[in-house]
Amino acid sequence: MRTLELTKQLIARESVTPVDAGCQEIMIEQLEALGFNIERLQFGEVTNFWAQLGNSTPLLVFAGHTDVVPAGSVDGWDSPPFKPEERDGLLFGRGAADMKASLAAMITACEHFLGIREPRGSLGFLITSDEEGPAINGTLRVMEWLQERGIEIDYCVVGEPSSNSSLGDTIKIGRRGSLNGQLTVNGVQGHVAYPHLARNPIHLVLQSLSDLIAEPWDKGNDSFPPTSLQISNINAGTGAANVIPASIQVDFNIRYSTETDDQKIRNRCEEIFSGYELDFSIDWTLSGKPFLTAKGALIDAACAAIQEQTGNLPELSTSGGTSDGRFIAPAGTEVIELGPCNASIHKVNEHVAISDLDELAILYKKILEKLL
Ligand SMILES: [Zn+2]
Repeated sequence: MRTLELTKQLIARESVTPVDAGCQEIMIEQLEALGFNIERLQFGEVTNFWAQLGNSTPLLVFAGHTDVVPAGSVDGWDSPPFKPEERDGLLFGRGAADMKASLAAMITACEHFLGIREPRGSLGFLITSDEEGPAINGTLRVMEWLQERGIEIDYCVVGEPSSNSSLGDTIKIGRRGSLNGQLTVNGVQGHVAYPHLARNPIHLVLQSLSDLIAEPWDKGNDSFPPTSLQISNINAGTGAANVIPASIQVDFNIRYSTETDDQKIRNRCEEIFSGYELDFSIDWTLSGKPFLTAKGALIDAACAAIQEQTGNLPELSTSGGTSDGRFIAPAGTEVIELGPCNASIHKVNEHVAISDLDELAILYKKILEKLL
């Protein structure tokens, strides 16, 4: 019941990235009442906070974001996106599943746990308002801030909506890396009737693009599917039917496993294009390195908690997009993502099952009991 009320309070705040709209103050009020020390960390336009209770080890941290993606056209929604509404056992509103229900459940889990006994270790919250956006002044900066202070996180539970069809059926134990390439190939503009006076960059690049998409990057491993490359945009041409264009731009994205790394992929791409007589350049953007918590006390605790509560063991998955876990895991922290069902996230009529709210709080509390 309390988790539901807190979730509703958070949904009622229109916190579209990077705006926090007071969500974090709602959380801070609850955490201060539990005895947490709060550090408000404003980086640029991004609102973040760090909360800590105790200094002993191990340190278990709940991580998450108060920002949400835009609601889009309100016409598509059956109720206003920033007005929480209960219908048919579901709670509707932007951010309900991604991830305001998790934030509320983390707080009530701590309330219940701390009401029973002192933790054998310490507790933290790492909360940002920029997970859905550029993610530059959010979790990444807070991690730098923590490292400067020598604060090391042993276990981190990220509240991303990891479940598929029922709560706790899946936890994320890692994510693939994501690398963007923007290829530019220059030719010589000219009249299509006089090709000997021009160099057509579209013709020049086609064979190399075939090689690129046929490249067997790796076979994946027990935890990751094979690395895969997708071309997302191709731009060339003036719009006229009689002009050979001067250049072509090709955007591609590679989701990669721990069998390779971004430097190996870059080198192989450069090698492919260098194999043809191309005047080319590639701009690279690394949006996230892969991370994996293959095993450890946190996964064991989460699996046991889920099995006790639901009767089933979760699937351990590395699928899906990137998450802020990518900024936390490199410091050696065991990281998992556990949250509600993700079928409606980023869509109109985003929702969570009301019965899942208290159940999620119980899962988080059981993890606390097992580790602290
Ligand atoms: Zn999210």
